[in-house]
Amino acid sequence: MAKEDVAAVAAPEEWQSTACILCECNCGIVVQLDGRKLAKIRGDKEHPASQGYTCNKALRLDHYQNNRGRLTSPMRRRPDGSYEEIDWETAIVEIAAGFKRVAQTYGGDKIFYYGGGGQGNHLGGAYSSAFLKALGSHYRSNALAQEKTGEAWVDAHLYGGHTRGEFEHAEVSVFIGKNPWMSQSFPRARTVLNEIAKDPQRAMIVIDPVITDTAKMADIHLRVRPGTDAWALAALAAVVVQEDLCDNAFLAEHVTGVESVVEVLRTVDVGDYALRCGLDDELIRTAARRIGAAASVSVFEDLGVQQAPNSTLCSYLNKLLWILTGNFAKRGGQHLHSAFGPLFRHTPDVGRTPVTGAPIVGGLIPSNVIPSEMLGDHPDRFRAMIVESSNPRAFTGGLQCVSRGVRLAGADGGDRCCNDGNRAVGPLRAARRIAVREDRGDVLQPRIPAQHLPFAASLDGAARRNPPRARDLGATGAGTRRGR
Ligand code: SF4
Repeated sequence: MAKEDVAAVAAPEEWQSTACILCECNCGIVVQLDGRKLAKIRGDKEHPASQGYTCNKALRLDHYQNNRGRLTSPMRRRPDGSYEEIDWETAIVEIAAGFKRVAQTYGGDKIFYYGGGGQGNHLGGAYSSAFLKALGSHYRSNALAQEKTGEAWVDAHLYGGHTRGEFEHAEVSVFIGKNPWMSQSFPRARTVLNEIAKDPQRAMIVIDPVITDTAKMADIHLRVRPGTDAWALAALAAVVVQEDLCDNAFLAEHVTGVESVVEVLRTVDVGDYALRCGLDDELIRTAARRIGAAASVSVFEDLGVQQAPNSTLCSYLNKLLWILTGNFAKRGGQHLHSAFGPLFRHTPDVGRTPVTGAPIVGGLIPSNVIPSEMLGDHPDRFRAMIVESSNPRAFTGGLQCVSRGVRLAGADGGDRCCNDGNRAVGPLRAARRIAVREDRGDVLQPRIPAQHLPFAASLDGAARRNPPRARDLGATGAGTRRGR
């Protein structure tokens, strides 16, 4: 919308309802505009989820919207590597011609898409599907492929979708490698954390090697030795089984394949596992008993564990905690949630990338193989890349190679930029941050040596052969309406 059009529809001092797009919460906000400038911003008390809550990031939205780095026109790379401004029509015509040329010469599946909405901006995910379909392209990735696909794979096997905890009502909230005081991620996070901390009937359990702001508020902080979360989670699940804290009625009615898992957890030496993760085994037992006795439990795992060793196994084990205790599809428990568009393809099937044969989990190509999928002379390598509301240079190992790969392929994606993120792709400089999961090579085989975690292989094997399922509730989402 042109500047004068914005001003025409929004008189100064008139509050406009909108949403913060800086994280997945999408808190409701109201804003006053001064042309393009967000002159005033405050929480929207009428918003059903956030109810007027915002974190301090929302109040800086104008900085992200209108900072000095903002591009106001498409930019085209010159032969000397610098950029020049071009008009939108020229940009669209040239980019469309470039993609068409690649699709006709090599096939649409040689056009690789990276993005789909940055942080809490989900629009890209919606319109990109139609765009890619028109090109015949289907390979994609984004920042979620760094750390979230392991959990997505486990989700797909267990119940076919993604779950979230209802912390607002949970009697016990468990945060694993997660510091919601800072990273938010659920509605009114700080308000809810304060409510939990003040209520003697409720409890907060944090599993984290770091004394985070959230850990400081916790009733129980399981301060594991870094990288040993899997042993702590396995020990918690083992105590639940060994002390008969399972919701047997729930398991009998809604879960299949649990017998083999329970059988293995019965054999876990809790004292030994506690030693391995650096915890007092009595503290683990106390935490497990609190979980087992609660009327409702919600669990949140995040990057602290998802970018650490054995991340996929940790995802599986933390879900065992709330499945074994029947905290699914009930107030204060875990819920399969609806979404504007799916973040992942929740399918147990694992595809393979065309060049390296790396696993494609949840429909996303692993970040660390992207350069290899573009460089070299493999006939099926990607020949063009479109980056949309994302900045893979900050996420993807060897991204300088991707820039090079795009140019080698003679494609247009790396040479036109229409937004801030794409501009950052241009200069060939070393990637500032490389965050690649240790077990990214094959998420199907968590790396816990069998001699250290005796049941890892059999648990993993059991999960693959006969995973516990709650499909009768989960696959259709019907369970979320039953209000157990
Ligand atoms: S929690 Fe903060 S960053 Fe996230 S949507 Fe709300 S105001 Fe924006």
